[in-house]
Amino acid sequence: MAEFFDEGARVAVLTTQPLDRLLTYRAPEGGCWQGAYVEVPLGPRKVMGTVWGPGETGFDAAKLRAIIRVLDVPPMRAEMAEFLTRVGDYTLTPMNFMLRLATRAPGLTNPPSMRKIYRLGHREPDRMTDARARVLEVLEAQAHAAFTLKELADEAGVTSSVIKGLVKQGAVLEEESPRDLPYPHLDPAAPGKTLTGDQAEAAKVLTEGVRGGQFGATLLRGVTGSGKTEVYLEAVAACLAAGRQALVLLPEIALTSEFLKRVEERFGAKPAEWHSGVTMTERRRVWRMVAEGGAQMVIGARSALYLPFRDIGLIVVDEEHDGSYKQEDGVLYSARDMAVLRGSINGAQVVLASATPSLETWANAEAGKYKRLDLTSRFGDAVLPEMRAIDMRNEQLPANRWISPTLATAVRGRIEEGEQALIFLNRRGYAPVTICRACGHQIGCDHCDARMVEHRFLKRLVCHQCGETKPMPEKCPSCEAEGRLAPVGPGVERMAEEVAETFPEARVAVLSSDLFGSARALKAQIELIAQGGADIIIGTQIVAKGHNFPKLTLVGVIDADLGLQGSDLRAAERTFQLIRQVAGRAGRGDVSGLALLQTFQPEHPVIRAILSGDEEGFWRAEASERQAAGVPPYGRLAGIVISSPDLDAAMGLGNTMARNTAPLDRIGAQVFGPAPAPIARVRGRHRVRLLVKAPKTAPLQPALRTWLEPLSLKGDIRLSVDIDPQSF
Ligand code: ADP
Ligand code: ZN
Repeated sequence: MAEFFDEGARVAVLTTQPLDRLLTYRAPEGGCWQGAYVEVPLGPRKVMGTVWGPGETGFDAAKLRAIIRVLDVPPMRAEMAEFLTRVGDYTLTPMNFMLRLATRAPGLTNPPSMRKIYRLGHREPDRMTDARARVLEVLEAQAHAAFTLKELADEAGVTSSVIKGLVKQGAVLEEESPRDLPYPHLDPAAPGKTLTGDQAEAAKVLTEGVRGGQFGATLLRGVTGSGKTEVYLEAVAACLAAGRQALVLLPEIALTSEFLKRVEERFGAKPAEWHSGVTMTERRRVWRMVAEGGAQMVIGARSALYLPFRDIGLIVVDEEHDGSYKQEDGVLYSARDMAVLRGSINGAQVVLASATPSLETWANAEAGKYKRLDLTSRFGDAVLPEMRAIDMRNEQLPANRWISPTLATAVRGRIEEGEQALIFLNRRGYAPVTICRACGHQIGCDHCDARMVEHRFLKRLVCHQCGETKPMPEKCPSCEAEGRLAPVGPGVERMAEEVAETFPEARVAVLSSDLFGSARALKAQIELIAQGGADIIIGTQIVAKGHNFPKLTLVGVIDADLGLQGSDLRAAERTFQLIRQVAGRAGRGDVSGLALLQTFQPEHPVIRAILSGDEEGFWRAEASERQAAGVPPYGRLAGIVISSPDLDAAMGLGNTMARNTAPLDRIGAQVFGPAPAPIARVRGRHRVRLLVKAPKTAPLQPALRTWLEPLSLKGDIRLSVDIDPQSF
């Protein structure tokens, strides 16, 4: 039960600077409840905070500053406070930063009456123009969403007078001082598809788990197209029927529209959405409705885990192996692990779905911590694609050509049959390297330890680390030779050229995240492909993520060895997952698929495992390597990155830290480094990394705290802690 405070209260405040403690304030007139969102004075400013607990004892109430007011916002629940505390402890993140994650609904505190909101009206406008059509299209596409005038104008790319014109005609409704409307009701009793034996069995286990109302985690494994989504929608139905809320996390915004459609078909209405493409007004509504229970289901990106669910009963993490679930800036957390934590606090079931689970999840299932359900065959007649290697040592290729004759023949065969072929290369841009043929200089980023990548569509060089762009220079920046700069190696844009030359009659579509100005343009391209509007698709890893292209029957992987270079211990796992995912795009319909892997090392164990499809064998081999190395999931690891414009300063601090490791020694942890971080310079800051490796059961975080606490960061030095870093 929440406590009531009428004297002093400790408040977690929302500040921009890290603050790892709670501040005591005098309770407002009339007192306040634990969890209440409040406005408090902080120095000369007023900031938002949440009431965390009783004030420190022995305070002199008269001397304390008082809470200004209690905000008209649903209070934070105890489970949420516990979740934030535990994530903060785990990731060594100050509480005020955690609080920011939990209140990422802009305008949360503005009374809604201050805005006017626009919705789709019932009348047709008397005259249709392009601009008007765009407004109506936006409103139709997000029929339940609310927009402010500016948001709607921006989204549709029109001036506000266009919208005002539509309001006059009744085609758009303008609402004064609107309330936040609940979402349309999802009907859990609506029947789903008739499940196959495998599917029904898996669905039964999940729905029983949900009805039990307790925490439990399950790995739902099944090849692409095996019906994982159908199965977990059954669990969603059971959850909604029990009157609890369901959250489905997807790794990619571009996947949401297809998913929304499926939910609507199944439950008769669309759920709430939460991701960076959602307008501010709509986010505020989602936040409130999730808190008040007016949203039964949310689909969203990883940050949806921090929504204030009234009663969450199910969390699905779809494509749980996906790298995008690891937040790489701000608070470093793995959304997959945090979903499990949240489930355990809230008594919710957690479903981790994937065709190629992460090693962590696989190991947890092996150890019996998670249940494991397997869907072994594709739905209907679709069969898994056959996989074959093309040994590039035997292929004759002219310079600056990457499609082998064997692959070209296969592609030609498929498009002559009216099918689609996918050429996969996980490299954005035109060419990864630009070199001067006179002096050998490679153009690098001025701020990062990275090469600039030529993007011909943009007519610029782009740094994939910091996003810096510059025009292609005419002269070599090093020797000043003119006209000698040349692209080296392929990116997807260059593949598009080669494809156009090799298959002049084919319709070609390129799918790369950076080629689309908006999520909508990307979605349109995906739909075009799905409807057969292209013969050959050239794509980066964006195509690996669960899109359904029924005509696609051949996948050609240009460089299967690409991910295997480098010292990253996760390289094998990532390559295995990515190539299996991409290959899984082929042959979903009634035609069987084929995946051809161009490789210079067909005998490499990872390539062999991909070809043979021996996943269990692959995982076992990976697991024993990690076990031997004592790294996750069999040991604990933390990366400490020190960054500074001054390399010596960063190194100096790193060396000091490496000499004083007593708190870490006590738990049997080892410290490696300091050494240059995997990316040694980003945005003009040098980065030095220490790696801390500890036994699985060691209390790593408290030891890290003790170790880091006495450090004082002088000048422009920054330090960040990454528990379970992605690369090590
Ligand atoms: P996954 O999530 O494993 O990739 P999906 O759930 O998306 O698989 O299923 C792939 C396709 O097969 C979808 O179009 C889905 O509607 C269809 N499908 C799967 N199971 C069934 C079923 N039991 N009855 C009818 N269609 C099904
Ligand atoms: Zn850069």
